[in-house]
Amino acid sequence: MSFNVSEHDVSRETSQPDWTPIAEEAERAARVLHPDRHRMPRPSHRRILTVANQKGGVGKTTSTVNLAAALAMHGVRALVIDLDPQGNASTALGVEHRLGTPSVYEALLGEIPLSGAAVQSTASPNLLCVPATIDLAGAEIELVSMVARENRLLQALSPEALEELDVDYVFIDCPPSLGLLTVNALVAASEVLIPIQCEYYALEGLGQLLSNIDLVRSHLNTALHVSTILLTMYDGRTKLADQVTNEVRSHFNHTVLRTVIPRSVKVSEAPGYSQTILAYDPGSRGAMSYVDAAREIAERGAAMSIPIDRGGR
Ligand code: ATP
Ligand code: MG
Repeated sequence: MSFNVSEHDVSRETSQPDWTPIAEEAERAARVLHPDRHRMPRPSHRRILTVANQKGGVGKTTSTVNLAAALAMHGVRALVIDLDPQGNASTALGVEHRLGTPSVYEALLGEIPLSGAAVQSTASPNLLCVPATIDLAGAEIELVSMVARENRLLQALSPEALEELDVDYVFIDCPPSLGLLTVNALVAASEVLIPIQCEYYALEGLGQLLSNIDLVRSHLNTALHVSTILLTMYDGRTKLADQVTNEVRSHFNHTVLRTVIPRSVKVSEAPGYSQTILAYDPGSRGAMSYVDAAREIAERGAAMSIPIDRGGR
């Protein structure tokens, strides 16, 4: 095993005799506390990642906001699109999302440009968020009768709109369903990031998500692929967490990030203060893990080849 939950990472201990858990923890903490000295690489091209899993409560929102915040704090400009009427990503990023706030809803309807709804997060000047208001709850039904109903978000996230916002990364936080909002997110992105909780029934419903991704790829977006899987809420005290980790790794190999996000009360407390874990408790293992995961994503992005252009974007 070679994931970054340090006390379980026996392989590193044996392969690197100089390595000690304390030195490793100190180095990880330094990367969180001194982001200017540990900048992350910009991607070879702008990356749009949809964070999806129709299973509820697996860490979609937590991962979206903390990965985006980690990239932003380390010098990479990021945008979070809150595509869940619950508005949890907006809350965690300290962004207003009361009814009447310009939001992703108006952008989907084409009433305002993306820049009309994007605001700077309190987490970092490099981090923007397009909030979701409760209006979005009706969009799933309203979209059904609209022209180009699956392409609404793609149109809102035009290359010009993203150029105007000057972002390298876009993360789209999906609701826990496979409805039209999630389909819009899958059409607008080229990558899918799937958070998987290290728990019972973790893989339940994953087959359905993957077949929906296949459907979108064959009919609406040939560029779409699952680029990243992130294991979340890992509890080192349970055998089950290791079993899930091993099973996911054996199925998905290198798509799975080496870093695993530990279960931690601090991570769940942060949104209650409208903060990311990086702001709420920068020295915590949750913060360090999200920074490590973001760095892996950034390094993969820097090494990617430039994609063939998709017609229309
Ligand atoms: P939904 O499907 O409702 O949108 P989600 O997949 O976005 O949920 P989150 O909201 O990110 O999931 O997380 C679900 C709950 O678990 C939240 O209360 C969150 O604070 C908590 N949580 C997320 N990650 C962790 C973690 N690493 N340790 C402890 N609690 C966590
Ligand atoms: Mg969520």
